[in-house]
Amino acid sequence: MANRVFNFNPGPSTLPLEVLEIVQKEMLDYRGTGMSIIESSHRSAEYEEINNSAMALCREILGLGDNYHVLFLGGGASTQFAMIPMNFLASGRKAAYIDTGTWSSKAIKEAQLLGEVVLAASSKEAAYKFIPKMSDIKYPADAAYLHVTSNNTIKGTQYHQFPDTGGVPLICDMSSDIASRKLDLSGFSLIYAGAQKNLGPAGVTMVIIRDDMLAKAREGLPTMLSYKTHATEKSLYNTPPVFGVYIVKLVLEWIKKHGGLDGIEKINRQKKDAIYNVMDAHPDYYRGTVEKDSRSWMNITLRLPSEDLEKKFIAEAKAAKFIGLKGHRSVGGIRVSLYNALPLEGARKLAEFMETFMKKNT
Ligand SMILES: *Cc1c(COP(=O)(O)O)cnc(C)c1O
Repeated sequence: MANRVFNFNPGPSTLPLEVLEIVQKEMLDYRGTGMSIIESSHRSAEYEEINNSAMALCREILGLGDNYHVLFLGGGASTQFAMIPMNFLASGRKAAYIDTGTWSSKAIKEAQLLGEVVLAASSKEAAYKFIPKMSDIKYPADAAYLHVTSNNTIKGTQYHQFPDTGGVPLICDMSSDIASRKLDLSGFSLIYAGAQKNLGPAGVTMVIIRDDMLAKAREGLPTMLSYKTHATEKSLYNTPPVFGVYIVKLVLEWIKKHGGLDGIEKINRQKKDAIYNVMDAHPDYYRGTVEKDSRSWMNITLRLPSEDLEKKFIAEAKAAKFIGLKGHRSVGGIRVSLYNALPLEGARKLAEFMETFMKKNT
């Protein structure tokens, strides 16, 4: 496709061209039904197949045991910030949170509206430039759960090891790195992710919840805000985000076709190395904003020697068809988002562009 750009948008973000082509092909007549899937009933056999396949593929690709439920909900990851304490933070209990940036802070703010929160660790004083050391994480042994944000989309840090919480349930916001690397998820009680970074379009949020955690969910909540409702009804209590789930299913099939998480991780490592290698070769020019051992593979944050150069970099990159490189408005600078669907060629070409830009502008 001649006029497709290399899309480094942080979210919503690039989707595999192969997936978009299937969507386009199936748009007017979904598999002989004479209508689009978004015109079909969510109780139809066609949608049931999509819902079941998406759940099964998610289990298979992420390596989840039968003791996990996969849910497809609306409301974005941000609704999960509130649903989690609603369901799991009983009065008299404490919920532990690690603050590693904007999204963790928002999760904490919602939990504080609903109950008592303890800060288990934070890198706020250091402008969130690292993930706290495992040995610095402290929380009560009877905490209702520990909440972490695996990849900090705005700040550019990522956990490369997770706390061993023993009997305390571990909950993780994986919105910006789900299905991007091989991880043993058996230690997580609940994982959630807005689809719009690594899995599909905006409008659907995946929630993965283990049986023993689901059993702990509070009764008597408003029906739509209870995990038990959605688990019992297999995400069909109300009209689900049909189009989003359909595309998530196609993206999961695409991941499977490209070698599952082994294949995806291999490519993702090459992508992030392409960019970090340029930064490490010219650390005075391309200045990484986070500590090396906390670097994200998904969102690389950096500064140039001046804001004028950053503006020029973004403008010239855009002219060369690399779009979406501006840092989040709260931090400035450059952010290179390398989600699953961003092709290796895009990262390699951007690395070349960085070398050339530096030579021309020093
Ligand atoms: C994007 C993002 C969110 C917010 O997701 P919404 O679907 O917009 O609510 C939450 N957490 C992380 C880590 C994110 O990257």
